[in-house]
Amino acid sequence: MSNKMYMQDGKLVVPDHVVIPFIEGDGVGAEITPVCQKIVNTAVELAYVGKRRIEWKEVLAGGKAFEQTGEWLPEATLEAFKEYLVGIKGPLTTPVGGGIRSLNVALRQTLDLYVCLRPVRWFKGVVSPVKEPHKVNMHIFRENTEDIYAGIEWEQGTPEAQKFYAFLRDEMGVTKVRFPETSSFGVKPVSKEGTQRLVRAAIEYALQHGLPSVTLVHKGNIMKFTEGGFKRWGYEVAETEFKDQTFTMNEYDRLKKELGEESAKAAVAKAINDGKVVVKDCIADAFLQNTLLIPEEYSVIATLNLNGDYVSDQLAAMVGGIGIAPGANINYKSGHAIFEATHGTAPNIAGKNVVNPCSLLLSSVMMLEYMGWKEAAQLIVNALEKAFSKGEATHDLARFMPNGHALGTNEFGQKIISLL
Ligand code: NAD
Repeated sequence: MSNKMYMQDGKLVVPDHVVIPFIEGDGVGAEITPVCQKIVNTAVELAYVGKRRIEWKEVLAGGKAFEQTGEWLPEATLEAFKEYLVGIKGPLTTPVGGGIRSLNVALRQTLDLYVCLRPVRWFKGVVSPVKEPHKVNMHIFRENTEDIYAGIEWEQGTPEAQKFYAFLRDEMGVTKVRFPETSSFGVKPVSKEGTQRLVRAAIEYALQHGLPSVTLVHKGNIMKFTEGGFKRWGYEVAETEFKDQTFTMNEYDRLKKELGEESAKAAVAKAINDGKVVVKDCIADAFLQNTLLIPEEYSVIATLNLNGDYVSDQLAAMVGGIGIAPGANINYKSGHAIFEATHGTAPNIAGKNVVNPCSLLLSSVMMLEYMGWKEAAQLIVNALEKAFSKGEATHDLARFMPNGHALGTNEFGQKIISLL
């Protein structure tokens, strides 16, 4: 029997004995990866008493790959992720110079991992800069392949920038560039297809997890065709593909116009009562304010690449978890997914047994959930809740906890295993 996951009728099929490729990661990767694997193995063993098992298959990327093969991202690694569908990675050193801008971007592009998923929740005991961190429970769907992040830009003073400006001026009649001679230029592609596959994934996730709403976060008031398009196409996908399962604020506005505010309010209350997902939108700047003022009003967030970058870090900081925030890059259609530590290689603390393994550990939890191994995932979450509420954490978190007791990376891993 094969040990590989595969897709069947749009669903991921996971064999009980499954092979998962992993990139250990540079710097602190060598410390967090083995600790996380031990915890995951133990949780799987406890949850399924031998019925299920993960076989970890190391693949190379980053500094370790460069030392051993002369390449930063060997073809064999890309092939393994393609073949096994689901994998996990530690942080990677960004190569300086050379052809590859970022290994993470190369992995995302090769597998067309169009969703960057970042769940943000608070763990009791973790010190947060906000008063009511328990109200933050959001799932960010950040578009991963388009927007101003597509890397289409030309530097000021180059012949390319001049040529691009000449095209704008002579062929497109653009007269609004304030300082044309000294401008760099970037292009912001945002497509209907790219938007709709992202919003579709966000709505399906809300439905599967019984979450109350999806908020489209955009700056469509200023960037009318790109970010405004994101809002329009997002609503369109809700109203055409999920007509019976969602209620959109577009519908609310229509009802308000036709029948008055009371009727519109009654319709939204009925939709919520019927268990429908409310699809709404919010301008990005207002959204950042609202996350501080009324975080409980937001659940699943669907947004463009740049907005998603800012939103993820702000929300992670609000739960005190910038160093423990998990993440994944996913293509829900092909099933390909790479779960990852969201922090870097932390060279300043590497090799000292002080690094916090929780970003990679919670990414492993996301991976188990994605595979449908929810019982094992829950055991790990429960153990983390117990440890944090007793002030048991690595130094980065423990130092701020009133009852904090700092443990080394390995000792923290042992503690979590003992609490599973
Ligand atoms: P970093 O995230 O490695 O470190 C920033 C600060 O946070 C450091 O003080 C570090 O000690 C601390 N820190 C990070 N993770 C921690 C953890 N788990 N526990 C405790 N403390 C932690 O960012 P950087 O220093 O800007 O980047 C270092 C290298 O990592 C660079 O080569 C960069 O390109 C790369 N990088 C990789 C990724 C990735 O692979 N996803 C992400 C960011 C940076």
